[in-house]
Amino acid sequence: MTAINEKLVEDRLGTLEAARSWSPRVVSRLEALIRSGEDDALFRINPIKFAADKGMAEAEAVDLFLYATAHGLFEMNWMLLCSQCGCVTESFSAMNKLHDHPHCNLCRVDLEAKLDDYIAVSFTVSPQIRPTNSIAPTSFQRKSIRSSTTSHQRARARTGASSGR
Ligand SMILES: [Zn+2]
Repeated sequence: MTAINEKLVEDRLGTLEAARSWSPRVVSRLEALIRSGEDDALFRINPIKFAADKGMAEAEAVDLFLYATAHGLFEMNWMLLCSQCGCVTESFSAMNKLHDHPHCNLCRVDLEAKLDDYIAVSFTVSPQIRPTNSIAPTSFQRKSIRSSTTSHQRARARTGASSGR
């Protein structure tokens, strides 16, 4: 686990706590995650899943991450998902950088991004708060896609399937 910027975490949790009224232990659950979560647990968090895991209301968990982003604890990412395999094909730091024709390296197809169905939002801890090994989405993603593509292509070669697009 990597080092936490103590002063910044304290300051920003303080302003987050004061930003609105939260249910008991909501902010402390986020603090526990930042302080003792594994690197992977702080990367691309889905607030709906977080709510289910922690027994919180979904709406409050969504608010929690939006406020935490506004207060510099987390960063929000927009992701385009492949409609065939469900993988993240690309991720963006801002919605206005989204485009509607992602390419899935795994399935080797050009896709059409349809709003709602294949666009997802996730939250990753700010690198100023806690640098993690999972923090570089594009390089991490490329690497994982490349290795899965290689095994996928090998499987295709073995079965003699066509790989045309
Ligand atoms: Zn795919």
